[in-house]
Amino acid sequence: MRKRYAYGVIALLAVGYFAFSYLFPSDNLSKEPFVPEKFQLAGGPERENRGFPQREIVDLASEYPDTFFRQGSIKEAKVALSFDDGPDNNYTVKILDTLKKHKVPATFFVIGSRCELYPKVMKRMVKEGHRLGNHTWSHPNMVKMSNEAILKELTKTDKIIKKYAGYTPVIFRSPYGSLKREQVEFLRDKGYKLISWNVDSLDWKGLSAAEIKTNVLENLEQGSIILQHSAGGPGEDLSGTVKALDEIIRVLKKDGYKFVTVDEILEIEYKR
Ligand SMILES: [Zn+2]
Repeated sequence: MRKRYAYGVIALLAVGYFAFSYLFPSDNLSKEPFVPEKFQLAGGPERENRGFPQREIVDLASEYPDTFFRQGSIKEAKVALSFDDGPDNNYTVKILDTLKKHKVPATFFVIGSRCELYPKVMKRMVKEGHRLGNHTWSHPNMVKMSNEAILKELTKTDKIIKKYAGYTPVIFRSPYGSLKREQVEFLRDKGYKLISWNVDSLDWKGLSAAEIKTNVLENLEQGSIILQHSAGGPGEDLSGTVKALDEIIRVLKKDGYKFVTVDEILEIEYKR
């Protein structure tokens, strides 16, 4: 009889515990649900839109050395990790965990509409010392857009970043890496610094951790800006990015690299 009573108490406690944790989740992030309709990338998935714009990037960087950047000085053992397309309440959170574990700062080029969806993740990025840059409001393919429409996307995103970070960013990265020369000049005249990369992890292809690690470590040099993603389109798998990150940081630390934000590696202002 006493045994049955004990089982009863245990069962009651278990039910109570689950009910309590459902009503008052300790992980506050679970209060920010995944909303597929609001999570779309206006220009479509990365894998369907991206070319291999590295040659174009090199050209733009040499044509507009004060506006368009792809890497910092090769004279210092520094690297900058950059993550596009966040925040979300899955991969971004895991990436933040890894960065926190290693005490490493990164730069997040965030999508404005997603900032609105995940305020707690935004607050965490800021609190943990990461830099925020503009990656448009809806992630359109800018090549097809008017200057007026582009400015609208950027201004709206600047405002929401300011709300969380306390500053209006000048660092901007275009979705899919695509940008026309006239647009580079238009954005330069509006005071933006355009941030590209010289090491593409190609993680948007849904690669494995081993493939991502190889892409990053074999192409890296001093002053590199590394491109990765902290969220994808609906259903895109970035678990390789999350898994690779821990190992990439450990290898680079062992090799004597210092991790800095993109504005630090480029020695430019990040805010206006
Ligand atoms: Zn993007």
